[in-house]
Amino acid sequence: MTLDFLGSLQRTHTCGALRGEQDGQDVVLMGWVNRRRDHGNLIFLDVRDRTGITQVVLDKEVSGEAHAKAEAARPEYVVAVKGKVRRRGAGLDNPNMPTGQIEVVARELLLLNEAKTPPFSPAEDAIANEEVRLKYRYLDLRRPQMQHNFELRHKVARAIRNYLSDEGFLEIETPFMTRSTPEGARDYLVPSRVHAGNFYALPQSPQIFKQILMISGFDKYFQIARCFRDEDLRADRQPEFTQIDLEMTFPHQETVFRVVEGFLTAAFKTAGISLTSPFVQMTYDDAIRNYGIDKPDMRLPPMVSLTDELTPELRESLKIEQTLPVLGFAVPGVGALSGTQRRGVVDEVRATFGDCGLDFLDVSRLKTNDAFAPLAETIERKVSNDAADLLIVVTPKLGTPARWNHDPQWIYKRVGALRLQLAAKFADKHGRFAKTGTEADYKFVWVTDFPMYEWDEETKVWNAAHHPFTSPHEEDIKSGKLTSDKGAVRALAYDIVLNGTELGSGSIRIHRQDVQAEIFRSLGMTDAEAKERFGFFLDALEYGTPPHGGIALGLDRIVMILAGATSLREVIAFPKTAKAIDLMVDAPTPVSEQQLRELHLRIAPPRS
Ligand code: ASP
Repeated sequence: MTLDFLGSLQRTHTCGALRGEQDGQDVVLMGWVNRRRDHGNLIFLDVRDRTGITQVVLDKEVSGEAHAKAEAARPEYVVAVKGKVRRRGAGLDNPNMPTGQIEVVARELLLLNEAKTPPFSPAEDAIANEEVRLKYRYLDLRRPQMQHNFELRHKVARAIRNYLSDEGFLEIETPFMTRSTPEGARDYLVPSRVHAGNFYALPQSPQIFKQILMISGFDKYFQIARCFRDEDLRADRQPEFTQIDLEMTFPHQETVFRVVEGFLTAAFKTAGISLTSPFVQMTYDDAIRNYGIDKPDMRLPPMVSLTDELTPELRESLKIEQTLPVLGFAVPGVGALSGTQRRGVVDEVRATFGDCGLDFLDVSRLKTNDAFAPLAETIERKVSNDAADLLIVVTPKLGTPARWNHDPQWIYKRVGALRLQLAAKFADKHGRFAKTGTEADYKFVWVTDFPMYEWDEETKVWNAAHHPFTSPHEEDIKSGKLTSDKGAVRALAYDIVLNGTELGSGSIRIHRQDVQAEIFRSLGMTDAEAKERFGFFLDALEYGTPPHGGIALGLDRIVMILAGATSLREVIAFPKTAKAIDLMVDAPTPVSEQQLRELHLRIAPPRS
């Protein structure tokens, strides 16, 4: 087949632009053949570009030559069409297409390029197997849904950039080739050719650089920054991802919160959602007590403490451990369950708890016993009176330990996990996760006052719960808790949570060298080790460091939620698989002996 040249031909419209008002106009469209329907003397080509699809008619009687070319055209061929806009006849409008009032009657058709039969059609909504989509990502990205996702991503990023710029933030780039940064994941390393045996690390975040920019007096910094972490990938992680990273001097937590609320409001507006701020705030302890998790999903009712309602006498007769928490919650809108279904739920609850000591308390059974009926009534009053709600009450059996892995909050966490598990199971019933397209779909909450340290039972040490530049509360430094009671030290750290997902975290930082050195020490790092890893930073702290703080939010995740997608891969143009492989370019790959030699590397034989 001979292909046509573009010559001097120019598009007059995109494929999503034409409406009834353009009836009778001469137009030139260019794009891909989305679908082709051959009715003999009439051939219909749906021509697609990023903006939409227009139906083009090739009538043998209008142009035999154009019609002949349309006979040769196949899906995904690249074409140019010269023709006239025509309103479709009465009753022939396609209400499912924005251009459905019109069609273009072609006088000329240019076949600009042909296409092999694609392994899947970008015209189909049904998604081919994901490996095939990722291998032929260029075809996958042609799908209207994907084009929409990336347009949304662009708009969200632009709105954030504009908002922060207007607020006086400067966008400053920080290096990709650096040294190990402190987020605590594994580094991706880049071997140095010039310095044999030395490596750069790709940044896990711009953390140290943004703090140094504050020391350098830039006052307000932001960056839509790529971060690299070599972690075992779960469904919702990528080895490289994008953060909206910011830092400011002299802030209080609230100062940072207002900035984030501002840019999120701007970002959500681009998707047609208007948010109300300030967002709800909650301390970490309250989040654990009421939701059993540090990222509460506020679309669901909280847990309710029944600890005081279960008096010592009631506990005695119901064989419930004294003093430990008793918690209840409602799974909303479940409706009536059959006996079998109820037993299924109870079995599921018991199976979830295994032999940890927690048990299901059957409130409907309590009701049938005079001794316990008042308790059942109180429980219903406190947890839920709504007959459509499924009531779950969890009690610790006799002998249940107060701590699990040193954690006194473990009961709240286990019950919180059950709350989410059952909410997911009955999602169709309660509909709280369904999208209405309004602000009500998005429940934001700030979680504050995280613990500074986490106990690691395996290594028997206290680890920083955040990166080690996070400042403890001033009172906890003053009262000496850093050494006397690590478990009680609160960090000036905060998370922004949306619908039970952590969108980002940040903190007020340590700005004094003596406090920073103390924190390194309290994490079990000797002064020599701290100097070796972060010496340059400790030095910088000694040259007039202002109080500062900031945050970083995952851009990919925000776009994923706004796009209603279920995987980050839907909003990252060229993502990696769960095994960290780029299936399109086929990376990683072995490299030549020559390259290895230059980098002073040798591949060790596989470990047996
Ligand atoms: N660098 C931190 C992170 O990537 C965020 C921050 O503290 O600003 O999680």
